Amino acid sequence: MKQRTLTILKPDTVARRNCGAVISRLEQEGFEILAGRMLRLSEEQAMAFYAVHKDKPFYRPLVEFMTSGPVWPMALERDNAIEHLRKVMGATDPAKAAPGTIRQQFATSIERNAIHGSDSPENARIELSFFFSAAELA
Ligand code: ATP
Ligand code: MG
Repeated sequence: MKQRTLTILKPDTVARRNCGAVISRLEQEGFEILAGRMLRLSEEQAMAFYAVHKDKPFYRPLVEFMTSGPVWPMALERDNAIEHLRKVMGATDPAKAAPGTIRQQFATSIERNAIHGSDSPENARIELSFFFSAAELA
């Protein structure tokens, strides 16, 4: 069944000029890009986006990293999109990411890990509406 998910090409991917390679990989994996826009997250936006991690020791550095340069959020559609994107991304820590995954290929640390993907249908809905209007997703 077709499903939508949110990805974000993180600041390290933009800075290292890996956007084209990552987008190409996502297209090869059968994802359709429904919407996308490069932008710079405000501190408030980054804090809200990762609010689930607000009590973790890595929260403050994560917010600093995510606001350190442009990011490229995209709405993606595919069969089983949420689970498939998480599989293609690989583990949060690139040292543990499976060979051939985006994080194994492009991430440089557990924090600077190249790409975000929604982790559940509920979070995908919340995160898609965080960046895109209903009209943009129609
Ligand atoms: P994302 O939510 O970005 O898709 P994820 O679901 O694989 O990644 P989470 O546990 O949700 O991982 O953590 C969110 C982000 O916080 C990670 O992608 C990473 O950038 C950062 N992060 C997570 N754990 C650590 C850690 N132990 N040290 C530093 N940064 C971390
Ligand atoms: Mg997560």
